[in-house]
Amino acid sequence: MPTDPIIIAGTGQAGLQVAASLRQGGYDGPVLMIGDEPGLPYQRPPLSKAYLKEGDAERLLLRAEAFFHDNDIALMDAARIARIDRRARSVTLENGSDYAYEHLVLCVGARNRRLPIEGHDLANVVELRTMAHADRLREGLQKASHAIVIGGGFIGLEFASVAGAHGCEVTVLEAAPRLMGRAIGEDTSRHFLEAHRAAGATVRLGTAVSRILSDDRRRATGVELADGETILGDLVLIAAGAVPNVELATDAGLAVDNGIAVDSVLSTDDQAISAIGDCASFVAARTGTRIRLESVQNAVDQAKCVAARLAGDSAPYDALPWFWSDQGDQKLQIAGLTAGADDHVVKEHETGGLSVFCFSGDRFIGLETVNVPAGHMAARKVLGAGGEITRRHLEETGFDLRALSKALAGRR
Ligand SMILES: Cc1cc2nc3c(=O)[nH]c(=O)nc-3n(C[C@H](O)[C@H](O)[C@H](O)COP(=O)(O)OP(=O)(O)OC[C@H]3O[C@@H](n4cnc5c(N)ncnc54)[C@H](O)[C@@H]3O)c2cc1C
Repeated sequence: MPTDPIIIAGTGQAGLQVAASLRQGGYDGPVLMIGDEPGLPYQRPPLSKAYLKEGDAERLLLRAEAFFHDNDIALMDAARIARIDRRARSVTLENGSDYAYEHLVLCVGARNRRLPIEGHDLANVVELRTMAHADRLREGLQKASHAIVIGGGFIGLEFASVAGAHGCEVTVLEAAPRLMGRAIGEDTSRHFLEAHRAAGATVRLGTAVSRILSDDRRRATGVELADGETILGDLVLIAAGAVPNVELATDAGLAVDNGIAVDSVLSTDDQAISAIGDCASFVAARTGTRIRLESVQNAVDQAKCVAARLAGDSAPYDALPWFWSDQGDQKLQIAGLTAGADDHVVKEHETGGLSVFCFSGDRFIGLETVNVPAGHMAARKVLGAGGEITRRHLEETGFDLRALSKALAGRR
């Protein structure tokens, strides 16, 4: 039995799941979680949704305190790992203390991209990743009359919906030609553009911000655009994407490629170190391309894969990616990897929902839906079952995934 613990670096979604799955899988060696945020592990998705409205911190917690005690999982919070010594198999905290590991799982997540523009550090300019950020944003929202959101990605748009419902005027400024452009296709993007505009937000595409304006008390008063135009506002959210936290890995000489590079079983090039979640890049079994995903599904399923390997049951990672984003009354759900699609079939539902079937050549690779939860679940079933689904399969069932799922089950 190992005397040194499995150390889990980072106590977010992936870190917590590794610990929980290790115990569920029967691993009875020591487990030590080390994370730089204060308090118990919590989930981030509500930070840009319900938490902004309700501010209920208890509901964010992934597990109650008793869970860690009952499962003999040591949790060190507000403790930042400064470096890894691979030869000694130990990590050193910023306070100088060392902890030896049997195996190290890097679950250190991502951080928000900083915009190199004047005014990013003003009092009422906020970002959103942690509970502390959300508390600031919530407080800012109570006093704000016009919120400016820099970045039309998932987090910026979710906040825009909450701010609008709160009675705040909202302007979203996106530098790219469409919303959520890196993650979804044009039809779904357009649907959300119309929905946000219909809800009262001003959304401007192809619009870059050159600086954030301030008064003499260093409070933001608005933004200046690249063409010199000024937009006045009293709360600015910078939501310009995220970058993976790779520095611990880089300093330790591990391979990094848009994230800490891992192999098919999520091991780094050091067999004693794994990396998962937002910080890691892996080769997607379905496409053969190296990708990095920022989603709860990815963090949880990769954690389960690594925990199973550490408990003695190694298998390649091959989970179907899926994702959701709640923007007002519009629920976006994505099944599969749709970013690589070169063709789409769009179905508008009588209920106002939308389904976009995504193809790579003739192969069905994913489904984007808005307010069609049953279709999303059926797509996960069909795509997750393995085997190639072609356009003909879908045409035969009139693009009805539930019927296709039944037909495929009958054939197996
Ligand atoms: C506002 C917001 C809304 C979101 N909404 C959705 C959604 O609707 N759907 C969805 O699927 N996904 C959503 N996500 C993404 C999802 O939350 C992340 O993909 C998920 O949390 C990733 O888990 P992780 O464990 O890899 O990283 P994290 O949960 O970010 O955890 C990483 C932890 O490591 C800590 N850390 C970093 N460096 C060190 C160090 N050197 N030492 C110690 N600790 C360190 C970090 O502080 C952090 O606590 C959202 C994210 C945010 C920020």
